[in-house]
Amino acid sequence: MDARKPHVVIFPSVGMGHLIPFFEFAKQLASGHGFSITFITAKFMVTPSQTAYTNSLASSGLSIRFIELPEVELESEEKKAHPLVLIFKVLEKTTGSVENALRTLLSDSSNPISAFITDIFCTATLEVSKKLQVPSYVLYTGSASNLFLILYHRTMDAEMTESLKDLDGPVKVPGLPSIPARDFPDPMQDKSGPFYHLFLRLSHELLKADGILINTFQDLESGSVQALLSGEIDGTRIPSIYPVGPLISSPESDHHDGSGSLQWLDKQPAASVLFVSFGSVNFLSADQIAELALGLEGSGQRFLWVLPSPPNNASNPDVSALLPRGFEQRTKDRGLVVTSWAPQVAILAHPSTGGFVSHCGWNSVLESVSHGVPIIAWPLQAEQRTTAFFLVNDIKTAVRTKMGADGIVTKEEVEKAAKELMEGEDGKKKRERARELRESAKAALAEGGSSRQALAAAAALFCK
Ligand code: UDP
Repeated sequence: MDARKPHVVIFPSVGMGHLIPFFEFAKQLASGHGFSITFITAKFMVTPSQTAYTNSLASSGLSIRFIELPEVELESEEKKAHPLVLIFKVLEKTTGSVENALRTLLSDSSNPISAFITDIFCTATLEVSKKLQVPSYVLYTGSASNLFLILYHRTMDAEMTESLKDLDGPVKVPGLPSIPARDFPDPMQDKSGPFYHLFLRLSHELLKADGILINTFQDLESGSVQALLSGEIDGTRIPSIYPVGPLISSPESDHHDGSGSLQWLDKQPAASVLFVSFGSVNFLSADQIAELALGLEGSGQRFLWVLPSPPNNASNPDVSALLPRGFEQRTKDRGLVVTSWAPQVAILAHPSTGGFVSHCGWNSVLESVSHGVPIIAWPLQAEQRTTAFFLVNDIKTAVRTKMGADGIVTKEEVEKAAKELMEGEDGKKKRERARELRESAKAALAEGGSSRQALAAAAALFCK
C-alpha cells in the first residue's frame, strides 16, 4: 500500500451483481487516478466466481487490498429469512466491525482516508463514517431511473394511501415518464410488505451521503439522469450525482471459460445466437424451464442458454434433467445449454451473439448495450420490471415478454419474442438502437466523455 497515494476505503454489498461494478470502479480509480484502495468485505454468500474475481484484483499490480470482516453469527431463525432480508440482516450486523476497521485504518496517520464509499444496501454505515468525519459516498449499482424512484419513495409514501399493488394504470412521477403501477420496484409495491419500510429507510439514509455515483451514462438514461442532476426531488435537496458508468468487466477478463461457450460461439454465424441468462441469483421453476426450452426450439433460432442449478439443489444437481425429453438432441446443431458459470461479458462481446434474453439485472443491461446487443426483457423480481419498462419505452432497445398470472412465460410467447427480436421489423429497430448505444457507451468513457468527466470530478472531490 503506497501511503503517498490518496486512499479510498470501499465497503460493497454482497453478491456478484453488486460486487462487479465496485471492483471495476476501484480499478478505474487505482489505474486512472492514482488512488490506493482498501476493500472491506463481508464474509457472506462468497462464491467461487467471486473468489476468482477478488484474487485477480488482489494480484493485478494495482494498489488494491482486501480486509475481510469477521463472520456474522446468525440465529437459526434468522437463517430462514428471505434471501434479501438475510443480506440486510448480515450487512446491518457488520456495522460495528466496519466501524472498528475504519478506526484501525484511521489510526495509521501516514495513510489518511480521503473517502469512504459504500453500497445502497449498506447505507447504515454512513452514520459511522460520518461520525468519524470521513467524507462518505454511495456507489449506486442500479439505473438512474431506479435511484430516482428510491429517492421519490418518501414522497409517494407520504402522498399515497393505497399500495401500488392495488392500483391499475400509470402513475405520474415528476421528471420521469408515467410508469405502470405494477412496474414500480417490488419493495415499493405493498405498504405492508416485508421490504417496504426497509427501502423507505434507504430513501432517507441516502440523503446523508456527500455524493452518489451511479453506474450509468448520460445518453442511456438522459431523462432520469437530468432529473437527478437537478439537485432536488419534490423540494428535498439530494446529494450531488455522478453518472460514471458503464462499470463493467472487459471481455478479456472473462478469459477462463470452463463452459465451452466461446468455442461454440466461434462456430456460429455472425449475430445469429440468442443468449439466454437470468443473472447470478435467479433460478427458473421446472415448468418455466420446459416452456422456455420449447419456445426456443419452436423459434428456430440459434441459442446459448445458461441454466445453473439452484444452490440448494442437492437432491437433483442435474438441472438439464428438467429439459423436455429429447430437447438437447433435437437442437444440438443450433443450441447449447450451459449449466456452469459462463463468461457473460465475453459472450455478449462475441460477434456471433445477436440478442439477449435477460432478467434485466442492471449489470446485464449495461453489458448488453455496451456491446450493441438488443434485449428480450424478461423481468423476474426486485427492480427488474422497472428496468424492463424503461428499456422498452424510453431506451427502446428491448421487446418484452408477457408473463401470465401464474408467473409463467409460455412457449408461444418465447417463440414470438425470439423471432421478433432476431428477424422482425420491430426487432430491426431495436438492433439498430443497440448499435447506437454501443457507440454512446464508448463515447461516454472516452477522453472528454460524460462518464470520464464525472469520474474525474468525483476523484477530485475525494482528494479535497
Ligand atoms: N454473470 C456471469 N456469468 C454467469 C451469470 C452471471 O458473468 O453465468 C455476471 C453477469 O455478467 C453480470 C452479473 O453476473 O455482471 C449479474 O448481475 P446482474 O445485475 O445482471 O444480475 P443479478 O445477478 O444481480 O440479478
